[in-house]
Amino acid sequence: MKTKLGLLYGGKSAEHQVSLQTALAVIRALDLEKFEIHPIYINTEGKWIKGPQLSEPVENVKSLEFSAGNQLSPLSLAPALFQAEKQETLDVIFPLLHGPNGEDGTVQGLLELLNLPYVGNGVLASAAGMDKVMMKNVFAQAGLAQVNYVAFIKSEWEKAKAEAYSKVETELGYPCFVKPANLGSSVGISKCTNRAELEAAFAEAFQFDRKVIIEEGVVAREIEVAVLGNDEPECSVAGEIVPKKDFYDYKAKYESGDTALIIPADITDEEYAQLNEMAIKAFKALDCSGLVRADFFLTKDGKALINEVNTMPGFTPFSMFPLLWKHTGLEYPQLIERLVSLAKERHAEKQ
Ligand code: ATP
Ligand code: MG
Ligand code: MG
Ligand code: MG
Repeated sequence: MKTKLGLLYGGKSAEHQVSLQTALAVIRALDLEKFEIHPIYINTEGKWIKGPQLSEPVENVKSLEFSAGNQLSPLSLAPALFQAEKQETLDVIFPLLHGPNGEDGTVQGLLELLNLPYVGNGVLASAAGMDKVMMKNVFAQAGLAQVNYVAFIKSEWEKAKAEAYSKVETELGYPCFVKPANLGSSVGISKCTNRAELEAAFAEAFQFDRKVIIEEGVVAREIEVAVLGNDEPECSVAGEIVPKKDFYDYKAKYESGDTALIIPADITDEEYAQLNEMAIKAFKALDCSGLVRADFFLTKDGKALINEVNTMPGFTPFSMFPLLWKHTGLEYPQLIERLVSLAKERHAEKQ
């Protein structure tokens, strides 16, 4: 019997286009002997639109951007959206969504309520992984090495801006990185080397979130590891990101394309062992399932600091996560099948 796979993509976020590209790539990679594909598109207004079952691969993203008739809000939607023909419920949902309202546990909560198996992390891991402050607090508790950080909510900052800046200067110094707590793709992130930049960076980051995190800036290589599994997760080879600019910002990620990905990263066995151990520890500390991409800083003297995990990392065939698995021996179509099996296993264990 074919697996009825619901693909959830698009979304009301900065990463809408990326999500469409991912959906297209996943559809092309799926073996139609094994899968029935049921597209569910979330448009830029946040409306959910169920597309027709696809019996053959689609040509381009345009054919995935449905506009017709039934635009449902997430709350009125649920059962109908997740049904195949003849009112049968879909077998597994693959949320190909990044950022808030996709990667942060909200969609996962909806799928839990509907008792549907879904690919990737559950509510807790998704929510904790989306909030960089929560994530770092959990990592600290697990004894994982990381940079020093402080955090503020908007109202605290508004009441005492000068105190906030001097706390950053005394506890972290320059350079430091100011980030919205709940985002990805480097959106809203600034590197600061002085007070004026720090002030501008706070204002910028608070445009995106009511909470910001400020981190000590490190000079280090950026190495990433892909983790796959449920209770017994495994690590891929490591990959290195070499931004040609000051840091790996939004433009470098999606527009200019002049960032080099080096896979496998040229690191020692000891360094790899350290990253592998830390990635698994981080995965378990956040109670992850399915997949994460763990991002590290590797200092000159070979010390690894965990920067973050991404619970729904970039997933086009040219993204780091699938490339890391490809180099580890798992091709994109098999990676997708493995994630679907992991979703089914995790769901079966809960029943
Ligand atoms: P994504 O989820 O797309 O990986 P993100 O928005 O969660 O990105 P980070 O990975 O935290 O953001 O930071 C983006 C980039 O900024 C990093 O890849 C790195 O180049 C730089 N950077 C972030 N924090 C630091 C730091 N503390 N020291 C030095 N560089 C940093
Ligand atoms: Mg991130
Ligand atoms: Mg992200
Ligand atoms: Mg990152």
